[in-house]
Amino acid sequence: MTSDTPVIGHWIDGAPRASASGRTAPVFNPATGAESGRVALADDAEIAAAIASARRGYEEWSGWSIAKRQGVLFAFRELLHARKGELAAIITAEHGKVLSDAMGEILRGQEVVELATGFPHLIKGAYSENVSTGIDVYSLKQPLGVVGIISPFNFPAMVPMWFFPIAIAAGNAVVLKPSEKDPSAALWLARLWAEAGLPAGVFTVLQGDKQAVDGLLESDDVASISFVGSTPIAQYIYETASRNGKRVQALGGAKNHMLVLPDADLDLVADQAVNAGFGAAGERCMAVSVVLAVEPVADALIEKIADRMGRLRIGDGAGDGAGEPDMGPLISAEHRAKVAGYVDIAEADGARIVVDGRDLAVDGLEEGFFFGPTLIDAIPTDSRAYRDEIFGPVLSIVRVQTFQEGVDLINSGRFGNGTAIFTNDGGAARRFQHEVQVGMIGINVPIPVPVAYHSFGGWKASLFGDAKAYGVHGFDFFTREKAITSRWLDPATHGGIDLGFPQHS
Ligand code: NAD
Repeated sequence: MTSDTPVIGHWIDGAPRASASGRTAPVFNPATGAESGRVALADDAEIAAAIASARRGYEEWSGWSIAKRQGVLFAFRELLHARKGELAAIITAEHGKVLSDAMGEILRGQEVVELATGFPHLIKGAYSENVSTGIDVYSLKQPLGVVGIISPFNFPAMVPMWFFPIAIAAGNAVVLKPSEKDPSAALWLARLWAEAGLPAGVFTVLQGDKQAVDGLLESDDVASISFVGSTPIAQYIYETASRNGKRVQALGGAKNHMLVLPDADLDLVADQAVNAGFGAAGERCMAVSVVLAVEPVADALIEKIADRMGRLRIGDGAGDGAGEPDMGPLISAEHRAKVAGYVDIAEADGARIVVDGRDLAVDGLEEGFFFGPTLIDAIPTDSRAYRDEIFGPVLSIVRVQTFQEGVDLINSGRFGNGTAIFTNDGGAARRFQHEVQVGMIGINVPIPVPVAYHSFGGWKASLFGDAKAYGVHGFDFFTREKAITSRWLDPATHGGIDLGFPQHS
């Protein structure tokens, strides 16, 4: 670090806040491997300042009328729509994914902003007149207060946008703790909120590591935690936040299978397996990492997939003289070593490496964190390379003899995020959707991320807590309900004294 290395700071009280903690972590451009900046790591004083400012923001914002809050949501949506190219460039520079993919994640986040603009309909209460003689019952949905969002590196814009548009629309104030690996997208979003007219303190960005996360988990002024990241951390967040009396949703890792029946169109399957396996270099929680081929299709399918893989161009996600490549680098040198380690494990466990990406080098970008698309056949299902989440461009083929063998294998795994079936048999697809123990299912669709008005979330070790992200679950998570039983006495009636339990009359 030199004295002119930029330090990416916080956003507190409606303005950028330089770090005073003296602790920082490196941020890289994964395509070049060069350190492009340092990110601030908050200390306890900065954590307290962020939460206190959010508390003040909440006091003000929750008093704004629905109409005024809606105006800010619409302004934010318009600004985001007009300027998303700037955000995509920031994402690519710190994450490495290709620009069109960065734009894709923003569009999926924008969908949630658009849903949130319709919040008045989704947070209105209910009214029942005359439930007992002269008595009415109604319910209100009110915000929680200050809500914490802790996000992973792989979607620095979309994952925060799964939560904050709905949280803010409902009248809460948000403290976002982004991944320290790509911290700048959150700051860009904070600036956009300010331009849209959001009062200071309603959207705060707290940069940091475990210390910042624990500060949010332990603060009495933080009412809820929305977390997305790896399963061990999701479980830690769920347990700690619950113990501290918070509402919590914690989305974890995945190992997504695609089941291919012999009647499927193998060209469609091969296209989709390549898209879903290698898009964003496999760093998606909904990436397909295992193709379960119901025999006799495996050999033909492997040939088609390998052929398509040979045509993928790997390079700087920002593009080069030849345009945009198909796939960019991984997030870090450490992560590349971890992915390579899993391919080594598969090989040692007896799998056949059909296409090997371990030695890929990109001309002119020799220091970049690139890993080539890799295809593995005949991976033993007790291998760690089959069981664990790899989170890289590694697609494994498992040959099964029957539909049921495939479903049983999926259900035996500890994750339950996404899965897909490829077939032309509607009855088989219907049975699959009924039997498979997974939260999001695609039928001839490889990455079944639900639209904003349905909710996103997996089963088993892919989601701790009861509430999924966005959709109706999101509005329920970010509001709490009050039920009011009211009687306005008619001058002609009188209740009298009755010490019994209230009964209807
Ligand atoms: P990660 O768990 O390492 O980090 C996620 C967040 O937790 C970051 O903000 C990080 O700073 C923080 N964190 C890390 N270690 C911590 C600790 N010991 N204590 C407290 N906080 C800690 O995850 P990642 O590597 O950034 O993201 C990749 C993972 O996220 C993958 O497992 C992927 O499947 C998962 N993911 C899941 C979904 C989903 O919807 N289920 C979506 C995106 C990503």
